[in-house]
Formats: sequence, C-alpha cells, structure tokens
Amino acid sequence: MKRYRLIIDVEKCENCGNCFLSCKDEHVGNDWPDYAGGMPDQGPSWIRIEARERGQYPLIDVAYLPVPCMHCDKAPCVDASKGAFLKRADGVVIADPEKSKGRKDLEGACPYGAIQWNNELQLAQKCTFCAHLLDKGWKTPRCVQSCPTGALTFHSIEDDEMDRLVKEQKLEIYRPEADTRPSVYYRNLHHFTKCFIAGSVATRSGLIPGGEEGKEECVEGARVLLFDSKGTRRGETRTDPFGDFKFDGLDGDSGTYTVQVETGGRVAGPVAVEVRESVSIGIIYI
Ligand code: SF4
Ligand code: SF4
Repeated sequence: MKRYRLIIDVEKCENCGNCFLSCKDEHVGNDWPDYAGGMPDQGPSWIRIEARERGQYPLIDVAYLPVPCMHCDKAPCVDASKGAFLKRADGVVIADPEKSKGRKDLEGACPYGAIQWNNELQLAQKCTFCAHLLDKGWKTPRCVQSCPTGALTFHSIEDDEMDRLVKEQKLEIYRPEADTRPSVYYRNLHHFTKCFIAGSVATRSGLIPGGEEGKEECVEGARVLLFDSKGTRRGETRTDPFGDFKFDGLDGDSGTYTVQVETGGRVAGPVAVEVRESVSIGIIYI
C-alpha cells in the first residue's frame, strides 16, 4: 500500500519561514473536525526550523533543518496515548482532537518535540500532514506547496519504492537513535549533523625590494588531499576560484587529520587538524 512520505533537502532550505507561515495560515483558528482543533495564534507552528552554524570566520556556513512531526511507523506517541493518537494506513499519525483533550502528559511523549500543548483548548496537538486536504484530493500539505526552493517534496509511494529512493539518493532520517521509523527523510543531512574542515590556499610573493610585504594571491584548482590519523586518504578536492576548499561529512570528535596541497609541482603540508567541531584552518601558503 502507498504511504505518504516527506523528503526534506537541507541544502535547499533558506529559512524563509513560508512553511511555518502556511502551517499557521491553514490551522490558526481553523477547526478541522476529526483531524485537528485550531492552532493558537501565538507560539510555534507545527513545523519548526532548527539552525546550526558551523566553522569559524571567514569560512562559516549555516544549515537550517525543518522539523515537523515525523509520522513515525513505530510512534511512541501512539503507544503512550491509549487511543488518542492514531496511525492511519496511509502513514499519517493523527492526534484525535476529541480524545487528545486534557492529555498534557503527551507533550513529552515525542522524541522529536513535535507535540504541543494548546492551553486555550486544553488539547495535545501536532502536524497532521494536512490530512484534511489530502483526503480531499490535495497532492501535498500546505508547507510543501508554499516552499519556494523545493526543499520540501511530498510523495505517496510503496515501501519498496521508498527503500530504493533512500539508497539511490542517500536519504537519511534525523536522530535514528530514537528508533521510531519516521516517514520524513532528509537529503544532505550532513550539513546539519556532521562537521567540515575548510581552508584556503594562496601564494605569497615574499618581501619585495625595500622590505615591504609582497602580494598574496589565492590559488584556484590546487589539489587538496585529506588523510585520517592512520594515513588513509579520506578525501580529495580542488580549490575554487577564491582558493577555498572544504571537506564535509566528517564526524565530530573524530581525531586528527592531515591536509596536503599540491599545485604546479609544489607541495604544502601536511597540516595537522584536530576535528572536534567544524574547523576553518585558515590559509595554507604554497
Ligand atoms: Fe509521534 Fe513524535 Fe513520531 Fe510525530 S514525530 S509520530 S508526534 S513520536
Ligand atoms: Fe525552508 Fe522551504 Fe520552509 Fe522556506 S518554506 S523555511 S525554504 S523548508
């Protein structure tokens, strides 16, 4: 049977807030009987954007991670709810707006923090994948419809087709240790969860007559090699037109690496780099 899945591309999320706002537009003050009571106009919507800054000046990046309810197959909220939360055959998890009344205890039942307490209605609530629209023939929830960058895509597909997509497109789930079998998958999740080593390569012409400092010029196209502490090559890249390079997808606290640069028959390094968090190693002169 086909089930709904949301795929989120972390690289494409610009933190524009359209998903957040369209969720509010759809649900604030709107009662969708059998699906959800109205969302309060103050406070978060049912999709939040987490942010993570990596690196140090001048090589810094920021990744944004949209986090809705994961509509888990093995959902702790359903287990804890004693019938108030339901997993539908199409994969959607619904917090029944009648049975979830007075169930503030369910706020803590979700390892992703997706359940919110509506104080006014005394109701435990969360994202419904806009099931009231899907059941009327809509192809996507409002957040997906409003995303201008294509970071959110929505699919109704069989399990084996999803397994194929996961392998082919290297999709991942967020916080797999929660072991809840989410229906939400991420592409380029390493931008948020992993670390990088970044730096720049430049030439220095040395002192010019009169004792003044010479010019520095960035080197485009230099070959940059990354080795781990056992001397195994872990990556190879080329510097961009600004002389910058980046090795991404490294685990935090993964020990000491070395970086070596080669260009025009010249070699610089190895430069030792300890990776605890993402690190910008500055300029390697060659
Ligand atoms: Fe339940 Fe949380 Fe999973 Fe959503 S993400 S189905 S609220 S456990
Ligand atoms: Fe990111 Fe799309 Fe949401 Fe904008 S609408 S914050 S790009 S997921």
